[in-house]
Amino acid sequence: MYAPNSLIQPVERTISLEIVHPEVQRCFLRCFNDGYKNSNLRPAAGDWVKALRFAVNELTICGKVDSHYYSRTYGECYWCDRSTKLGIDIFPGFARPKQQSAFVESTSKGIAIMMEHLSPGKGGRHRQTISYGKSPNLSLSARETLTQEVWDVRSIYLRQGLYNREIRKSLQGLINLNRLTWQGIFDKVG
Ligand SMILES: [Zn+2]
Repeated sequence: MYAPNSLIQPVERTISLEIVHPEVQRCFLRCFNDGYKNSNLRPAAGDWVKALRFAVNELTICGKVDSHYYSRTYGECYWCDRSTKLGIDIFPGFARPKQQSAFVESTSKGIAIMMEHLSPGKGGRHRQTISYGKSPNLSLSARETLTQEVWDVRSIYLRQGLYNREIRKSLQGLINLNRLTWQGIFDKVG
């Protein structure tokens, strides 16, 4: 997109095309390079939707700052890198405390809540959840299951006096990421 002899050149604060999902990168290149003169070569709205669906599936939440989302295809949190290099975080959030974390992990197959271990050798807090070691209750809707799991995790942290703003935001992030990834599935029925 930046021609070598162009007057417009990327600078340090320019957000690189590399950070977005490869399908979205392809759309940008087709739109602004191939389709620069020939509009027929530009991706159609449907192509963008498809690319964005792939991209949303690969989004994950940063382990350090709760308002950072990045593509796992890029491999690391660009927003952390950028704030270290430039001293400005354009998506400022709350730094996650190391000891009291319940952060959200997304894979291409599913989304999991990561709960830290109580102390070495004792096993993680996930062992205290109602669903630990049990097969899923298939009579519940996706929405009910998510609500139940979030409620369960919240009660564990409440019981231990560790429930705070960070954990509340993490759980909210978990709900949002699930809704974003599995569109329609978590909507209220009826
Ligand atoms: Zn980050």
